Amino acid sequence: MATRENPFRNLPQVQKLLEMPAAASMIARFGHGAVADALRNTLAELREQIGAGLLAAAPDADSVLTRSGEALAQRVRPGLRRTINATGIVLHTNLGRAPLAQEAIAAVAEVSAAYCNLEFDLDGGKRGSRTQTLEPLLEQVTGAEAALAVNNGAAAVLLALSALSRGGEVIVSRGELVEIGGGFRVPDVIRQGGARLVEVGSTNKTRLEDYGEAITAETRVLLKVHQSNFRTIGFTAETGIGELAVLAREHDLLVVADLGSGLLQRTPATAEPTVGEVLAAGADLVTCSGDKLLGGPQAGLILGSKAAVDPLRRHPLLRAVRLDKMSLAALEATLRLHRDQPERIPVLRMLGQSEDELQARAERLQAMIGSGTVEAADAFAGGGSLPEERIASRALALDPPMGVDRAATLLRSGEPAVVGCIRQDRLLLDMLTVADADLPELAEALKAVLA
Ligand SMILES: *Cc1c(COP(=O)(O)O)cnc(C)c1O
Repeated sequence: MATRENPFRNLPQVQKLLEMPAAASMIARFGHGAVADALRNTLAELREQIGAGLLAAAPDADSVLTRSGEALAQRVRPGLRRTINATGIVLHTNLGRAPLAQEAIAAVAEVSAAYCNLEFDLDGGKRGSRTQTLEPLLEQVTGAEAALAVNNGAAAVLLALSALSRGGEVIVSRGELVEIGGGFRVPDVIRQGGARLVEVGSTNKTRLEDYGEAITAETRVLLKVHQSNFRTIGFTAETGIGELAVLAREHDLLVVADLGSGLLQRTPATAEPTVGEVLAAGADLVTCSGDKLLGGPQAGLILGSKAAVDPLRRHPLLRAVRLDKMSLAALEATLRLHRDQPERIPVLRMLGQSEDELQARAERLQAMIGSGTVEAADAFAGGGSLPEERIASRALALDPPMGVDRAATLLRSGEPAVVGCIRQDRLLLDMLTVADADLPELAEALKAVLA
């Protein structure tokens, strides 16, 4: 009977592995401790596999190093990764909503790599307010008398209701008691703000009299909520801000409008009312997000009369929902672009593309990969704005030999990840949300799954 050599004994030692020339570059990249850890883990796994009879012989030192290098690469791979959005949904909440303008990215880098005057008044040499430069800019681009910025749109609504209606009643149309997504439900937010919800009207129709009849001595706010990702169509009626404002004045109440997407200026592709229009129609306070149609970072904006905004400034919740310096820098840069060069804001640029441009991009991609058909497609603004409004776009439709589901999975796991849509067993890559600069990487990824 031949005695077999003990395979465990042939496993290289950690110290020996660390001294190999091939380990030097790994140590330079990942650090000595992490490499040593990875080698120990790899060796432990190998021992287990040998013990279970899954491996007959110990692998050589080079393979142990290679295996550890792969584990280390996986360990430093960021969880949050760049993704090419080929869904045609511009403000895709799952894909991070608005990509930032170059100017906004530069502003973030500038203030976050060093100290900045976040809460310091450089002119006076004393403590300043964190939104000192942002507020005048917000007022300038929206025409609002006063402005405030917080961490996100939901926080803006919560702060507004907490400060203006706590202990009182908030009147809302039954057609506007919506869930925006991610569990943000208007009735819950009102409750959380410490107010009582008074529902008026019906799901499809709410008239001015409905609001009028519900007003009591406890009423504080008439709230209008943008329906966001759904629409009531057909036999419908809603009461406009203008009429509500007249009613509110008569009873000394405030009109708060949660606009959601926050359009600052009209573009041909966006039929939403702008923040300025809603304020001009008589809203005392408007809230919206910074990363929807505004095209900036995650933020919540609050705009309105001084009388309506001031109580929010003094509310303790403000500190809990304040913006960080990176978002502030990005928001400020984005607002400057709105004022001076809106065409530089990626979201607005994407929404303003012509069909010819989209056709040309789809054909370029088709030529790069030598496959697929260019087709008309419906794209959307997303982010709860204009849910029904289709944007005429172009897509490259592919029929991957491995099957669409497998191809979509592979594309999602790539670097960068690619997300398209599956329609009728084909993979569609919508060109509205793909930048020209993304095409070479997108083509590489597609060629790999088509091969
Ligand atoms: C998106 C949206 C919100 C929430 O804003 P976030 O910035 O996502 O927190 C609130 N209200 C409406 C109407 C919205 O569309």
